[in-house]
Amino acid sequence: MKEISTKLLVIGGGPGGYVAAIRAGQLGVPTVLAEGASLGGTCLNIGCIPSKALIHAAHDFEQARMQAAGTSPMGIRVKEPTLDITQTVRWKDGIVKRLTSGVGVLLRKAGVQVLHGWATVEDGKTAVVQLDGETVRVRCEHLLIATGSEPVALPSMPFDGHTGGAIWSSTDALSPTELPKRLVVCLPQARHRSHRGRGCARHPAALRRGTDQAGARQPQEGRRGAAPGLQRAGL
Ligand SMILES: Cc1cc2nc3c(=O)[nH]c(=O)nc-3n(C[C@H](O)[C@H](O)[C@H](O)COP(=O)(O)OP(=O)(O)OC[C@H]3O[C@@H](n4cnc5c(N)ncnc54)[C@H](O)[C@@H]3O)c2cc1C
Repeated sequence: MKEISTKLLVIGGGPGGYVAAIRAGQLGVPTVLAEGASLGGTCLNIGCIPSKALIHAAHDFEQARMQAAGTSPMGIRVKEPTLDITQTVRWKDGIVKRLTSGVGVLLRKAGVQVLHGWATVEDGKTAVVQLDGETVRVRCEHLLIATGSEPVALPSMPFDGHTGGAIWSSTDALSPTELPKRLVVCLPQARHRSHRGRGCARHPAALRRGTDQAGARQPQEGRRGAAPGLQRAGL
């Protein structure tokens, strides 16, 4: 098995890991970063960035629906809009790709060696990274574990959205192949629930039910939580 040594080994290329690795590299610390999936982690690939892209698209679609319904305050009138969800997802994927390649460039510029593979920690100073067709043992002085989190299914409802089923994780919701006619959203008691609720209120599936008054931009919503906006949206 190939072996390499470094001062710092970072496992996980999300915002926790890549920012630390870039900074360490800039400070002259020999750094190796192992990422098993895609640089940028949850945030850039299946979290903050794609969800904001889709919220933006849903907002534009909502505006077009208002204009078609003759309720545009600016007097803009259009015919009933349609949504090509495949193209919307493609557009979102393009944004993700641009940003994740940017992370790769920043890591390279900072002199960080990136290993594209899943790491298994052997002890506090050693990890084994499974690359494509090769296994590398990395010895380090310092180990930073920034492996993030993943969606958790309800015990009685395992996710099956990726195989065409009806129980979606947040990841499935970011790449739908078609829009559901009805949607139930389960949000955890977490700090992001407000904007994720807003995203769902603006989800084209919700909008198709005629809930085009999501009111998600009300200035007070942040303080009061998502509930009023969701109620205004008819949810
Ligand atoms: C739908 C959604 C929307 C969100 N929106 C926002 C937002 O608007 N604002 C905000 O602040 N936060 C948002 N978040 C949360 C944000 O994405 C996370 O807080 C952030 O990504 C955490 O960063 P991290 O580096 O700790 O972990 P992650 O981003 O999860 O990165 C961990 C990385 O480690 C890799 N990894 C795991 N195990 C191994 C291993 N053994 N070997 C190699 N690699 C491994 C994973 O592949 C992953 O790339 C959102 C999350 C979701 C799901």
